Amino acid sequence: MKIRTKLALLFTVIVAIILAVFSLSIYYLSENYRKQEFYKSLKDRALTNSQLLLKVKDIDKKLLKIIDKNTLSTLYAVEVLVFNDNNEVAYSNYDAEVFLYSPELLENIRKNRYLESTYKEKQVVGVIITDEKNNEYVVLAQAKDIYGEEKLRNIKNSMISGLFLAIILTVVFGFIFAGQALRPIAIMNKDISQINAYNLRQQLNTGNNKDEIAQLAINFNAMLARLNKSFELQKSFVSNASHELRTPLAAIKSEIQIALQQPREEGEYTQILQRLLVDNQQLIKLTNGLLQLAKSENLDSGIQKTTIRIDEILFEVQEQLLHIYSDYKINIDFEDIPEDDNSVTVKGNKQLLNTLFTNLIENACKYSTNHFAEVYITFDAENTIILIKDSGIGIPKDALDKIFEPFFRTQSATLFKGHGIGLSICKRIVDLHEGAITVKSKENSGSTFKVVLPHI
Ligand code: ADP
Repeated sequence: MKIRTKLALLFTVIVAIILAVFSLSIYYLSENYRKQEFYKSLKDRALTNSQLLLKVKDIDKKLLKIIDKNTLSTLYAVEVLVFNDNNEVAYSNYDAEVFLYSPELLENIRKNRYLESTYKEKQVVGVIITDEKNNEYVVLAQAKDIYGEEKLRNIKNSMISGLFLAIILTVVFGFIFAGQALRPIAIMNKDISQINAYNLRQQLNTGNNKDEIAQLAINFNAMLARLNKSFELQKSFVSNASHELRTPLAAIKSEIQIALQQPREEGEYTQILQRLLVDNQQLIKLTNGLLQLAKSENLDSGIQKTTIRIDEILFEVQEQLLHIYSDYKINIDFEDIPEDDNSVTVKGNKQLLNTLFTNLIENACKYSTNHFAEVYITFDAENTIILIKDSGIGIPKDALDKIFEPFFRTQSATLFKGHGIGLSICKRIVDLHEGAITVKSKENSGSTFKVVLPHI
């Protein structure tokens, strides 16, 4: 069922319930009021009649009957009966069979001094009066409230027709109102259905920028912008990656082609194969880097973390790097001597942290002619802080905020081997550890990378 229909129906049901409760209470109160009024009138009538009969001496019962029958009042066809001590009828204003006459009933009235009851659609009132000689009489008056009931029937009919009319109007207006309220959503739906991977730049109309639907459109636009950005990134990643892969592959191809142009000496073949091996190693390094980057992008913050001593990781990285590059010099030192182990411990993933510091220390050595990296460990109450310093080529000011983007390389760095992937992996790893990485650098003076990792 459409939301519009649902809303209209719900609205109608709520209004119908409220109106029904309201009408029922009015009807119930009116009925109660009518009954009470009628009992009161009956009682007055019973008392007037019997007073006349008992207190006015020598009243002619026949005359009283005639007066009784011709009294103009709302009380139509009231039947009045007066009983003496012996339960005999002392007066009756009508000739037909005596109604309701039962000794128990009369006893009951004598006991309670008053009675209100209903009998065959008629209301009955019973009162006690005494004459001058202190004889007690039970007076019964009964009648049907023809006018009152007619009035009530009219009220009931008006209410039922009113209720039906109100329900029909509520359905119609509810439907129109719901349609109007949901119109922006219908428009939004139409616009969204036209958005695909090729027009992610399209934006939804945000209307008045205030209500919930406008907020939905604003959030949706923000999501589209994020999607568009990540699509763009992915596109540029694929084209950058293929470009990076093509260069060593083309080099390998041309090298093989040149080698095959003419028969060569054995020594020459060895040289060619050695060059090919170097190119191949570069290719492996690049694909490993790409793989690492793709992996780190797919990781979420739920990576496995253990308690790790940062100095231990750094010494491990130092050993690994010196094993590969014997000309590198790496100095690791504490800026502040830690009072306890906790100052240099972080909650992290050992393998990822190893990759992080390998990239940073390798860069520091690679981009400086002395191949010297100085690593300092320091800390505060919340974090362990690692500084990686070099006195190498440095990074131009305008490139400082771009170096963490995949494949970005500074002009001066192109003289060195590399593909611009390492720092984007570092950034992702630091993010996964809820830390921060920043850089300070001056061209031709050197760079200092600062990594802040929280203890917990
Ligand atoms: P790669 O070193 O393979 O080019 P990275 O992602 O590690 O890739 O670095 C990206 C770029 O940042 C480098 O190309 C270089 O321009 C710059 N860079 C990184 N570290 C340093 C550093 N220590 N000194 C100078 N430039 C650096």
